[in-house]
Amino acid sequence: MDKKEVAAVLEEIALLLELAGENPFKVRAYATGARAVLTFPGDLAAARRAGQLAQVKGIGKSLAGVIAELLSRGEAAVHRELKDRTPPGLLELLQVPGLGPKKARVLFHELKITNLGELEYACRENRLITLPGFGAKSQEKIKAALANLSRYAGLFRLGDLLPLVESLAAKWRSAPGILRLEVAGPVRRGLEVAGAIDLAVATDHPHQVLAGLEKILGAEFGARGPGRAETTLPQGVPLRLTLASPEGFGAAWLAATGNDNHFLALQGLAREHNLELTPQGLLAEGVRQSAREEADVYRRLGLPLIPPELREGLGEIEAGQQRRLPRLITAADVRGCFHVHSYYSDGDNSLEELLAAAQQRGWSFLGLSDHSQSAYYAGGLKAPDLERQKQEVEARRREHPDFALFWGVESDILGDGSLDYPDDILQGFDFVIASIHSQFNLKQEAMTRRILTALAHPCCTMLGHSSGRLLLAREPYACDLEAILEFAGAHQVIMEINASPYRLDLDWRWLRRAKELGILISINPDAHSLEGLDDVNYGVMIARKGWLAPEDVLNTYPAAEVARILSRRRAG
Ligand SMILES: [Zn+2]
Ligand SMILES: [Zn+2]
Repeated sequence: MDKKEVAAVLEEIALLLELAGENPFKVRAYATGARAVLTFPGDLAAARRAGQLAQVKGIGKSLAGVIAELLSRGEAAVHRELKDRTPPGLLELLQVPGLGPKKARVLFHELKITNLGELEYACRENRLITLPGFGAKSQEKIKAALANLSRYAGLFRLGDLLPLVESLAAKWRSAPGILRLEVAGPVRRGLEVAGAIDLAVATDHPHQVLAGLEKILGAEFGARGPGRAETTLPQGVPLRLTLASPEGFGAAWLAATGNDNHFLALQGLAREHNLELTPQGLLAEGVRQSAREEADVYRRLGLPLIPPELREGLGEIEAGQQRRLPRLITAADVRGCFHVHSYYSDGDNSLEELLAAAQQRGWSFLGLSDHSQSAYYAGGLKAPDLERQKQEVEARRREHPDFALFWGVESDILGDGSLDYPDDILQGFDFVIASIHSQFNLKQEAMTRRILTALAHPCCTMLGHSSGRLLLAREPYACDLEAILEFAGAHQVIMEINASPYRLDLDWRWLRRAKELGILISINPDAHSLEGLDDVNYGVMIARKGWLAPEDVLNTYPAAEVARILSRRRAG
């Protein structure tokens, strides 16, 4: 087990304990332990061998025993016991936004609800209205959340699928009979949610490959037509496998990557060139042509290699034919980022730690933005906290003269569209991200007016997570994005791609419009931890999906130029 897996089990133990109504100190010990494991800088297994686990801050003796068990056996007795005495559906209830362990316990004890189906039924019967801690409003909310859960059933976030498919690919590349193995499907295209993961394999012995993988997985593959097989992974995610000969691998990889519209268009183009393109290869008058690489296929069709993120059937083939595909931004173009939370509000880390992590990534600037005062639930900063933070920022700047630390804030947009501090405070920041964190249920017109009012403030540098969606959990709030983008374009407001894999908001489908309007995009990780900084990479995928070039993205400019851009609006 790696750190993430160990931490996930500890977290689940904490939840199960809480569901069982156990001592809160014990619950907290496991939750703290999970965090301690995640942020432990060294090698967990080595610390265990050296007998040092119990000395790690946040772990302690009894947790060290549980962690040691997890590391050596892949499971822990206490976890097993808790799971055995908890109804299996009870954990499912926690998927409903707003339902924590305490409320789930009430549902279980008072109404004997043990799974989502029973909860839905209880809502239909209005049983939550008189339940302590619930009520008519919360029943309405739960009903809506349940409708969303079933709408989202069978879908997974890119942030969960990409690490999963990459780790499988790394493990399986050396499996018997596999000459080449690549990630394909919607995940390769950087789509924000998908229903499955796809791998494409080059092999001369497909049966050997399938038998070998079945052995590794301990599960069977079902056939899905020639060269295709499918199974479900232990994580519940369907896996689709495409198998092809090395000569036809390029065509197979293209077909397995999709999307369908893109591949269909390529097939049409092939016919115009008197070729036949199938998921097995490329034929000219029945004779097999080399299609080892995707580029071989594109070349025969008169096209440059079209990056996977663009393969959505949205004009990329025409643009390729006219040689006007953009040079897409890459992760290597990124020189820094904005929207980072520190432990002044709800982040995990100190300024010094964040700065060091940014430098480690080769970046030359970082834009710190903690929550503003109204975000009390997230430790939003009051005026005296701001003063303290400003002094620390200045001290850090003196220590790192060759690094640009920008001091900003993520200001709540209040109900009337005003920002969360008086103007004299707002003017003191290098930048202000304006975000909505409350009152999501306004009508479209009122919400649009509220956001436009915030953007009209001369101190507002960028708009944070513009639709407010949480992927597979919360729908966007109602607002007129076209009007918002037009305003942003006209007033030099930067738009955020919130790169948290839970958000990926602005939606990539709006990025080409934003670019047309001359809007600069900032890829913001909304990081609450050091690893969170790496979410920038998801943002880069989304930017690529939106056809963005380096010059369209604030993160790619040198620090001095970034400073100029931040002040341009106030300079008028
Ligand atoms: Zn936010
Ligand atoms: Zn944030």
